[in-house]
Amino acid sequence: KKIVLAGGTGFIGKMLEESYSKLGYRVVIVSRRNGSVAWDDKQGIRDALEHAELLVNLAGKSVNCRYNANNRREIMESRTATTTALGEALLACDNPPPLWINSSTGTIYRHAEDRPMTETDGEIGTGFSVEVAKAWENAFFSFDLPRTRQAALRIAIVLGDGSVMTPYRNLVKFGLGGAHGSGNQMFSWIHIRDLYRIIRFLQEREDLSGVFNCASPDPVTNREFMSSLRRAMNRPFGLPAARWMLEAGAWALRTETELMLKSRWVWPERLLREGFEFQFETLEEALRDIVGRKD
Ligand code: NDP
Repeated sequence: KKIVLAGGTGFIGKMLEESYSKLGYRVVIVSRRNGSVAWDDKQGIRDALEHAELLVNLAGKSVNCRYNANNRREIMESRTATTTALGEALLACDNPPPLWINSSTGTIYRHAEDRPMTETDGEIGTGFSVEVAKAWENAFFSFDLPRTRQAALRIAIVLGDGSVMTPYRNLVKFGLGGAHGSGNQMFSWIHIRDLYRIIRFLQEREDLSGVFNCASPDPVTNREFMSSLRRAMNRPFGLPAARWMLEAGAWALRTETELMLKSRWVWPERLLREGFEFQFETLEEALRDIVGRKD
C-alpha cells in the first residue's frame, strides 16, 4: 500500500506521514528538498503516483509573511503550479490513485460575522487571500480525471502542536492573551486529528467528491478562543490588543494581521450531513488535548 504526500514535510504533512505509516502505508513525499521526489522530476512523480491509493497535496508557501509583491507571487504560484504539475502527472498515469485530495482554505469565504458559510450558501470573499484560494481550486478542478475522485478541503485554522497555535500560545505566555481588535470576529478551527480522520473518511466513501468545509461544529469568537486558551494554559489574565497594536506588532513580526482579524465562520455542512463524526467537537476538548500540561 502506498500514498503520495505533496508538500508533505510541513505541519499537516508530518502528521499524515506518521499516521499513514502506522497503518502500514509506504509514504512517498514530493518536496523541494533532497531525499524525496523533486518537483522537477516529472517521471519520478508519475512513478510515485502509479498504483498509489491516495494523493494529498499540501504544498504552498506559508502565508505567515508580509504580502509584498515577491511573497504574493510565491504564495500564489507555489499553490497553482504544484497543483497543475500533479494534475498533469495523473493524466499521464496508467494506474492513477482513485482519490486526489487538495488543500484549500476556509479563507475563501467572505469576512462573516452575521452567519456561517456552508459549501452551498457560503459567499466567496474578495482580496488577495481569496484570489489565491480561488485560483488554487480552479487549477485543481480544471482537470477532468475519469479514474480519480477529487476533493478540495476548505480547511479552517488547524489546532495542533505547532503552526498557528505557537504564536497564540506565546501571546498568552507573555500576558497578551486578550481579545484581538473587537474580539467579535469568528474563529473557525479544526483539531489536526480530525483533519486526518476526514481524509480517511473520504478514502472510504467512494461516493463523495467536490468541496468540503473542514471546520469543527463549534466555531467561537476570537474573544472566546483567547479566553479558553488562557484557561487551558492557567493564565486567567490577558491584555487585549487593539487593531493598531496588532498592526505595529505584525509589521515587527513580518506578518499580516488578517490571520487574527478576519472573521472566518466556516460550517461543515456536507461532512455532518454525510455522517462524519468529529472526535473533537468542542474547543474545550481540543485545547485540553493540545495544550495539556505543557504550559
Ligand atoms: P506548512 O507550511 O507547514 O507546509 C507546507 C509545505 O509546502 C512545506 O512543508 C513545503 O514543503 C511546501 N512549500 C513551501 N513553500 C513552497 C514553494 N514555494 N513551492 C512548493 N512547495 C512549497 O503548511 P501546513 O502543513 O500547515 O498546511 C498545508 C496546506 O494547508 C498549506 O497549503 C496551507 O495553506 C493549507 N492550510 C493550512 C492551515 C493551517 O492552519 N495550518 C489552514 C488552512 C489551509 P518542502 O519544503 O518540502 O517543499
